[in-house]
Amino acid sequence: MLPCPILIGGEWRTLSGVGSTPVFNPSTGDVIAECPAGDAALVDEAVSAAHAAFPAWRDTPPVERARLFFRYRQLVEQHFDELCHTISREHGKTHAEARGSVFRGLENIEYACGIPSLLFGDTLADLARGVDCETLLQPLGVCVGITPFNFPAMVPLWMFPLALACGNTFVLKPSEKVPLSAILLGRLLEQAGVPKGVFNIVHGGRACVDAFLTHPKVRAVSFVGSSPIAKYIYETGTKNGKRVQANGGAKNYIVIMPDADVPKTVEALSTAAFGCAGERCMAGSTAITVGAAADRMLPSLVDAAKKIRVGRTDQPASQPDMGPVITAQHRDRVLGLVASAEKEGAKIVADGRDARVPDAPRGFYLGATIVDGVEQNMTLAREEVFGPVLNVMRMDDLDRAIELANRSAFGNGAAIFTASGHAAREFKHRVKAGMVGINVGVPATMAMFPFTGWDDSFYGDLHIQGREAVQFYTQQKVVTTRWFGREVGDVWKK
Ligand code: NAD
Repeated sequence: MLPCPILIGGEWRTLSGVGSTPVFNPSTGDVIAECPAGDAALVDEAVSAAHAAFPAWRDTPPVERARLFFRYRQLVEQHFDELCHTISREHGKTHAEARGSVFRGLENIEYACGIPSLLFGDTLADLARGVDCETLLQPLGVCVGITPFNFPAMVPLWMFPLALACGNTFVLKPSEKVPLSAILLGRLLEQAGVPKGVFNIVHGGRACVDAFLTHPKVRAVSFVGSSPIAKYIYETGTKNGKRVQANGGAKNYIVIMPDADVPKTVEALSTAAFGCAGERCMAGSTAITVGAAADRMLPSLVDAAKKIRVGRTDQPASQPDMGPVITAQHRDRVLGLVASAEKEGAKIVADGRDARVPDAPRGFYLGATIVDGVEQNMTLAREEVFGPVLNVMRMDDLDRAIELANRSAFGNGAAIFTASGHAAREFKHRVKAGMVGINVGVPATMAMFPFTGWDDSFYGDLHIQGREAVQFYTQQKVVTTRWFGREVGDVWKK
């Protein structure tokens, strides 16, 4: 059984006598660790340690804070394989997927390395006679990160490098389903030389989260997870005076026009729908085919789906195309959603429900599944599935396709595949989604751009990543200065 320690005030320790939840290796179904369930007292200890560490860290010059992240970047790169292996083991991503996600995380560390320039303020000399004005970006204090299971390293890296680089201290509460990658990230940050108490990790579920949301010393909360919890975190956090950015779930539509390039679209769509076993908030989970696009595309898409090899990802030497989903319970939920659509009249044209991996019969596997003829009123069309399932909905024209996509309660990503600049432009302007791809299946933004979910995919004002995140993790101070000396008369006179 792997240890699952917490980190408070620079000390790692394991908790005993508390409840815990199992951490699975989803490839085999084995329990590999027990994640302890922290309580309000533990949260108070972690927040107090972060609060005590804040003044010295706030006063550390940004160039010195940046140097910590240059060292951290190097350490994460040196431990790249170990980190990817940990991700594959506790989450089930293939090594290639784990590598891709750690690269996205590294880019966030690199962005944080640029903090001295990101913290530039504005100045106006001679605001009035002999009076100057400047803005300062100052850190908030203790910030908290609450993260989901599906990107065990990348999502924490979306948050703490920039929050710390801005001069805040941080407490991370990773998903109790995948705590091991976050622990490794914490150990590497310690090796990079982070001062004690500046970065802390606690584990737990709702009790722990509630304690953060009501703790008087917590200034800001970054959350990524499902929409109902994101909404709850936003409402409870803001009611208790915290800044909150809360990313929620998604249902992303990919419109395929009849003039789309078939092989390239099939390749992109199959990666968008089945990559990371569909457990991505930017998964292209619904294809809306326009006119003849369905008949042009579907046979190759079905072929591609049937060729996807499912298998265990915990053995670096032999890697499949797709790994398991996170738990048996989640697999059963996905199976239930597909069955409901079949009952309501949709057609399963690629059926991965019976996926078997002979050397890991207890793993949580599902094969790539394509459901054709999905209608708006079906549960499968409305709910986030978060599994390797692609819905196909057929429409007559682009207007109807956009109208359909815009009816979604979510608003994370949307994409169009077409050779027509006009169709692409119409789509870009009219679709209701924060991240749009044109002939790009997964338009997830990189570190320098905000991760701009809309509607039920995001609760808050300032998004994660990019300049918006710098604004989120800092507060502006405007300083107006006047020095007495030579008399300048009425400084405000026109
Ligand atoms: P989740 O909402 O179940 O859990 C997320 C976090 O919230 C975890 O740390 C968990 O411990 C905590 N939590 C769970 N239940 C809670 C409760 N009742 N009260 C307080 N805290 C609670 O999400 P998940 O299943 O881990 O992750 C998958 C979801 O995350 C999907 O909906 C996916 O779309 C979403 N996601 C969104 C983005 C994005 O950027 N929009 C990115 C990744 C994942």
